[in-house]
Amino acid sequence: MPRTVIRKSQSRRLNQKSAVSVRPKSIDDIIAVCKDPKRFPSPVRAVGSNSGSTRSSDALHGTSIDMTAMKKFVRLSSRRVQVGAGTSLRSLADRLAQDGLELVGSYEYPERTVGGLISSGSLSAGVPGDAGHLAASVIAVTLVTPQGRIVEVGDDMPELLAMVRQGYGLLGVVCAVTLKVRPIQPYAIRHREFAFDELMRFIPDIADAKAGIKIFLLPFRDHAFVELRFAQSGDGPGRKLPWKIRDWACNKAIPDFVHSVGRVMPIGRIRDPLIDGFSEATQRLVSRRFSVVGSNAMEQTGQFRKMRQSTAVAYSSWLFPVDRFAAVIYAYREFCLRHYKVARFRCDLPGIAYRIDRDASALLSPSHDQALFALKLRSTTAAGWDAFLLNFADLAARFDGVPLFNQTRGMSAHHGHDAYGQRLDRFRKVRRQLDPENRCLNQFFAEHIG
Ligand SMILES: Cc1cc2nc3c(=O)[nH]c(=O)nc-3n(C[C@H](O)[C@H](O)[C@H](O)COP(=O)(O)OP(=O)(O)OC[C@H]3O[C@@H](n4cnc5c(N)ncnc54)[C@H](O)[C@@H]3O)c2cc1C
Repeated sequence: MPRTVIRKSQSRRLNQKSAVSVRPKSIDDIIAVCKDPKRFPSPVRAVGSNSGSTRSSDALHGTSIDMTAMKKFVRLSSRRVQVGAGTSLRSLADRLAQDGLELVGSYEYPERTVGGLISSGSLSAGVPGDAGHLAASVIAVTLVTPQGRIVEVGDDMPELLAMVRQGYGLLGVVCAVTLKVRPIQPYAIRHREFAFDELMRFIPDIADAKAGIKIFLLPFRDHAFVELRFAQSGDGPGRKLPWKIRDWACNKAIPDFVHSVGRVMPIGRIRDPLIDGFSEATQRLVSRRFSVVGSNAMEQTGQFRKMRQSTAVAYSSWLFPVDRFAAVIYAYREFCLRHYKVARFRCDLPGIAYRIDRDASALLSPSHDQALFALKLRSTTAAGWDAFLLNFADLAARFDGVPLFNQTRGMSAHHGHDAYGQRLDRFRKVRRQLDPENRCLNQFFAEHIG
């Protein structure tokens, strides 16, 4: 029986509408939860740092399992580690860096948990050859099934492993994860700047580049800043100061400035150019003044990349086929300008695009069949955000947009069905076989996957 059952009123950060919240310290605690539907009603939903932008981890009238006490670390070899699913990305990256190691892929937002990260897609500017998503680095998981049995899922169960990776906790609770790691590999960042129409012409050229791609988009300034990340030979990740300045500018200074101006200046025609001007100037300063050498390890341990910073940033992402992305960029800018005219709402932070490699290691990988560009919309303003996203979803669907079940706010069930097609049918079939009582199925996934 879990020793650490917390009632709703005491719960720090879990889903407020769950009937019961628990913070297990061991696998036995999790087994006890899954086996006892009377004390721990369905749906049973594992929760990491709860950073998703949809209701994917909701446990309305059910049981929320806060995984953050499950943090054991074991180094299995020079290339493999086993970590508790509640370990934060930041503490794992810190621990690996002590041994000169890093994760394969440049995942940002280091407050999230390893369990949450591998249970969904991960969008970042990975250098080609790295995995498209962290879930691809998973060699094995220790899973507690919806019925409360422990199963070690590894290479000997390839189909199940491909469904647990990016499986949103629908096949059970991931308690521990064995991951591939590697020695720290530095990369150099080169910067380019474009107007939107130039960027559209540039996209086909860089689509196959041997570089990680990250693009900051300022539609109201008709301007984009492109970061290209090239793998570098060498034995060190370079100087830390330029990286820290860049990290501070992009992840603290811009969001905090935008949020403050938004609060004190109600007049849009003064506020909005001020915000855009500051974002553009800061981004330009960073890209012109600081040529940077970094590494995944440096990015994931960056101190300014905290989600619980003074400014809360709302986000939502869609992914698009590489060959449609130039047209998406154009339509995105037109959409932002038109929506602002009509609804007076605009995203006050630059959008961010990443190229995501093809990755078929998970059945529900968004880039299972082809490489994609992810477009992440961000804002510090809540009023008008949901209406903006609902309208944007229509645009995304016209360009064969692929949603992520935990990161695409504004998606409808039909968007998921259209994008994932037969793979979703296959996932649904196996999910129903493995969880016939729907122990882990919440309302959101009942609507979106079934
Ligand atoms: C401002 C902001 C921007 C972000 N931008 C990006 C981005 O650019 N790219 C990106 O990839 N991510 C981004 N994220 C993080 C994003 O929310 C991811 O979804 C993250 O990987 C989820 O990790 P988590 O620990 O918060 O998981 P949660 O949100 O807690 O859970 C995610 C899903 O996994 C399930 N789950 C969690 N733990 C387990 C477990 N142990 N076993 C089984 N199932 C589990 C949950 O039920 C849920 O369905 C951003 C977050 C914020 C707040």
